[in-house]
Amino acid sequence: MRDRHGAADPSQLDPAARRVLERVEVDRVELVRFLYADHGGVIRGKAAGRRRLADRLGTGIGHTVAMMAMSMLDHLQPVEGMGPVGEVRIVPDPATFVPLPYAPGAAAMVSDLRQIDGSPWAACPRTFLKDAVAALEAEGYALVAAFEPEFTLGRRLPDPAGGPDRLVPVDDSLCYATTGFDIAHDYTMRLVRAMEDQGLLVEHYHPELGAGQQELSIRPATALKAADNHVLYRETVRGVAFRMAMWASLAPKPIPGQAGNGAHLHVSLWDPALERNLFADGNGGMSGLARGFVAGILDHLPGLAALSCASVNSYRRLEPRSWAGAYRCYGVDNREAAVRLCSPMAGHVETSANLEIKTSDSTANPYLSLGAVIHAGLDGIRRGLDPGEPVTVDPATLTDRERARLGVDRLPASLGEALDALEADELLMEALGPLRRDAYLAVKRSEVADFAAEDEAFETFQHFRVF
Ligand code: GLU
Ligand code: MG
Repeated sequence: MRDRHGAADPSQLDPAARRVLERVEVDRVELVRFLYADHGGVIRGKAAGRRRLADRLGTGIGHTVAMMAMSMLDHLQPVEGMGPVGEVRIVPDPATFVPLPYAPGAAAMVSDLRQIDGSPWAACPRTFLKDAVAALEAEGYALVAAFEPEFTLGRRLPDPAGGPDRLVPVDDSLCYATTGFDIAHDYTMRLVRAMEDQGLLVEHYHPELGAGQQELSIRPATALKAADNHVLYRETVRGVAFRMAMWASLAPKPIPGQAGNGAHLHVSLWDPALERNLFADGNGGMSGLARGFVAGILDHLPGLAALSCASVNSYRRLEPRSWAGAYRCYGVDNREAAVRLCSPMAGHVETSANLEIKTSDSTANPYLSLGAVIHAGLDGIRRGLDPGEPVTVDPATLTDRERARLGVDRLPASLGEALDALEADELLMEALGPLRRDAYLAVKRSEVADFAAEDEAFETFQHFRVF
């Protein structure tokens, strides 16, 4: 039923959508952003006005198919099926509705990209993750995950020499040093409250190694929610800073020569009822299932990196001796291994077992990277792969021969190399499917070419501007 303005009758909507309409009234929200993450890793969206919301909750907002062929430089790539003709709908998930504490009067919902008839679009990243979760469920597992992002807090200032703007950090405080807590305090308090208000429950915070660098972790969640949370997290880190006339960046290397920003990905597999952590072996160690998952991740990691360390700038971070996990190996609490088995926490030995994948940063589309992690890990389990011996030292200190004996190698040193590995990875290419992989490769190859033609200052600027 429609009223005389053609608006949908709210009583026809499902309960979650009806709750959104109620909250919009109670919280006096005027604009609701429908957000999605694109192939450039950029979070984009369109907003619906309060009066149109009842309609748009059902239909979504119309959007050109071409936007999934857009790079992080807003350079549109020629991709078959993503030209100037054709529409999709940005269809919000009402369960993700949150008023935005840093944007009074606005709220957001994370969205799927659907075809006009409402069916999933082959290039929708959130659907990619949902499909991966379904594949996992079919084998009797649920994935619990959390991105653990680092970011740099500063101000965006013109370069006195006339080059691109620079990110000037708020402090030069030492790693974990209390000076850093105090200097960033006003921002941090607003950030923490904004996170909590959106249901992103804060676990830990500390000033990190780099100038202006911060780390704030939130509670893990099941896979789709963890990726949705990371979208809201990225938005919040930057949104709070913008309101304070500051600039925050989650880019991997927003300031040359400073410590990089990772978004380490913590994962564990559970039974479907989330009662038992299947990565724990009952004796404080990792189960056979966890070993298979680790082996799958390591097997696919060079190609996976193209999705999880997804920008040209990512590879300035992914260097040996920077605790970013530049070597393909795993180890217990080894902070130079790409995959770290986290030692269990006393009193929570079973529930705390998890892997930390360091080959991950916030320029990734979190749906694609987490979906690919699931496919890779599941492949390791299905094929009964074994990860071999854990590495107990910094892999950079091993000789080439020792590394060869242990099967440890260097991960791709550039986005171009990672994309080559992705194209050679049959499992991941198959999982992505033709439209998504064509678009992803076109977008990312264009970024490689565009930045190759420019200098580091340009690359740095573009990445802290966007991420
Ligand atoms: N900043 C490091 C990275 O790029 C991580 C440091 C740490 O928290 O261990 O991944
Ligand atoms: Mg850290």
